[in-house]
Amino acid sequence: IEEAEKFRIEYWELEEAKLRRMPAPKPLATRIALVTGAGSGIGRAIARRLAAEGACVVVADLDGDSAAAVAQELGGPDTAVPVTVDVTSEEQVEAALEQALLAFGGVDLVVNNAGISISKPLLETTAADWDRQHAIMARGSFLVSREAARAMIAQGMGGDIVYIASKNAVFAGPNNIAYSATKADQAHQVRLLAAELGEHGIRVNGVNPDGVVRGSGIFAGGWGAQRAAVYGVPEEKLGEFYAQRTLLKREVLPEHVANAVFALTGGDLTHTTGLHVPVDAGVAAAFLR
Ligand code: NAD
Repeated sequence: IEEAEKFRIEYWELEEAKLRRMPAPKPLATRIALVTGAGSGIGRAIARRLAAEGACVVVADLDGDSAAAVAQELGGPDTAVPVTVDVTSEEQVEAALEQALLAFGGVDLVVNNAGISISKPLLETTAADWDRQHAIMARGSFLVSREAARAMIAQGMGGDIVYIASKNAVFAGPNNIAYSATKADQAHQVRLLAAELGEHGIRVNGVNPDGVVRGSGIFAGGWGAQRAAVYGVPEEKLGEFYAQRTLLKREVLPEHVANAVFALTGGDLTHTTGLHVPVDAGVAAAFLR
């Protein structure tokens, strides 16, 4: 019994020591962020918001020109640097994280936002479609999170990893089996990494947007036309149509998704990890398609 009691005391002393070492989340003005897919749409809005809060931002995108334009807009090399990266490439992801180290000395906030949408019914979805979609969103975000976690653990100061998943991670939408399956994959990455990285003070959370039509390259690139045809509305009216079907009767804009990233990483949610925040003006809550 004495031995057991000694063990119990030693165990709790160790646990308490661990807690004392646990880094508290830092204010955004002191942080170094890397946002993937930050050359357009939601990613650009997130990069803008983080920079406006005082963070240094690595603007990472497959499209190097748009990344460069956003980095320039955010104030240039002292506050934002562009990185051309294909998130499906292990070497390029490693190099992007290295770039954060070179430019700003580290990274403690990473947003997995890069994405495409291959939106087809099951019977038209090819194996190549499936692989491409999963390469970018499942493999890509896994690679980015792994490299980010390596850097954050080495720094020993904790950090945040945020996934821009989707309402489709949870609810079934029509004609996008490949897209929605990768979003569900991302949602589980959030839970798995929250469980694995918590002891390093790294919080992992997700944001589930829906219906961000205006400013979205995904919508402009074909998904919008397809949705407009399904709902029988002109494509230019799709934003308003989406707004009307929400509980709040509000259009969701990229800035609203950025607000959620701010709330999770820079606000008061210091003890929140493994959470998915819907930014859909109520669509998921009401089970609307
Ligand atoms: P977007 O097309 O405007 O932005 C996506 C960005 O990702 C682009 O800049 C693109 O160049 C980049 N990208 C694509 N492939 C890449 C790769 N291999 N490596 C690096 N970058 C790459 O689209 P968006 O609507 O802003 O979407 C951003 C994210 O939000 C996506 O993950 C999307 O699935 C998610 N999302 C969007 C909505 C919406 O309603 N628009 C809803 C739910 C989830």
